[in-house]
Amino acid sequence: MRNPHKCIVHTFKNYTKLEDVGPEDYFCRFEYKAATGAFTPDRVAVYCKCEMPYNPDDLMVQCEACKDWYHPACLNMTIEQTKQLDSFTCHECSPLDGKRPPSRTSTSGVPNGKVNLKQAQHKRQKK
Ligand SMILES: [Zn+2]
Ligand SMILES: [Zn+2]
Repeated sequence: MRNPHKCIVHTFKNYTKLEDVGPEDYFCRFEYKAATGAFTPDRVAVYCKCEMPYNPDDLMVQCEACKDWYHPACLNMTIEQTKQLDSFTCHECSPLDGKRPPSRTSTSGVPNGKVNLKQAQHKRQKK
């Protein structure tokens, strides 16, 4: 018997190039070498406090101080809030509450902040 809900497993590289990612599209970051029992690569860079490898489906925001990338959700922020940011500093690098640096109260209100955001091209959201 054949399972009709078959998954499509892409390589990580191909996955990032997909136009449309369906619910049955997965990617495999590692190659398993049955001969040696080893995965290649044997390590992967992880980001955020959840220590997840970069996922092209997830928008991430870069801390200006430590240059690490964070998921808005892991910062208790929405993606929209993240996009409004002028600059982002993660919790580790931020001064504790009460010791905030003098904030510039600019009212230029440009919605596109200068904060660095990382997200796969194909996930561009419609307005
Ligand atoms: Zn995270
Ligand atoms: Zn930081």
